[in-house]
Amino acid sequence: ILRVENLTKTYSSGGRELTVLHSVNFTLEPGDTFSIVGPSGSGKTTLLGLCAGLDRASSGSVYLNDVRLDTLNEDQRAAIRNQYVGFIFQNFQLLPTLTALENVMVPLELRGERGAGKAAQALLERVGLGQRGHHYPTQLSGGEQQRVSLARAFANRPKLLFADEPTGNLDADTSATVVDLLFELNREAGTTLVLVTHDMELASRTQRVIRIKGGAVVNELVNDRIIEG
Ligand code: ATP
Repeated sequence: ILRVENLTKTYSSGGRELTVLHSVNFTLEPGDTFSIVGPSGSGKTTLLGLCAGLDRASSGSVYLNDVRLDTLNEDQRAAIRNQYVGFIFQNFQLLPTLTALENVMVPLELRGERGAGKAAQALLERVGLGQRGHHYPTQLSGGEQQRVSLARAFANRPKLLFADEPTGNLDADTSATVVDLLFELNREAGTTLVLVTHDMELASRTQRVIRIKGGAVVNELVNDRIIEG
């Protein structure tokens, strides 16, 4: 469902070039659970953005369901994202002009489901935000917005879900609820999970963990076995 080949990303800023990803490779099958760990600044978020088609690689390629993302223009990539992909990102997420409840209702209504309001309310309750349906994203904390995104992802049942630090802003109890919901989505809808996290407990629950450092894969952990990168 996701194939990453020799992915390299170089940013230019202030007349200087900085290569933040060096030839990263991996392949995910439908239903896989995968996490990317590594120190701050190692390129995790950049890698996630490239995989999700939010940004373009400098070289190498990303195939999403056998479609090569780097040959597409932004509109075509957006169409692929809408079709297959869900996001739980810090700053790419909710529609600001809709309430929390309406944000969760959107995918249900797009599918023409009846009772979208009730279903969306039930999902908000599951992420502990049953009382916050009428709030707009700006009236919610970062962690609350992330939970609304999770409820929306649940409504959307995407083939692939990209989550950047899904437990980063949450207390232990809320974090446990969110993690359970992520894996439930994986089990129930077969959603492939791709997580970036500093939370080793969360990472250890995924089938595969890659560790990146300085933009390169250092090793991969599969079922507790280390494979040097
Ligand atoms: P953290 O765990 O702190 O979120 P990360 O591993 O996700 O870090 P990235 O956000 O991918 O790291 O950043 C990797 C490197 O790329 C950093 O050194 C960062 O400063 C640099 N970087 C990220 N975005 C840009 C940009 N738009 N222009 C220039 N450099 C960038």
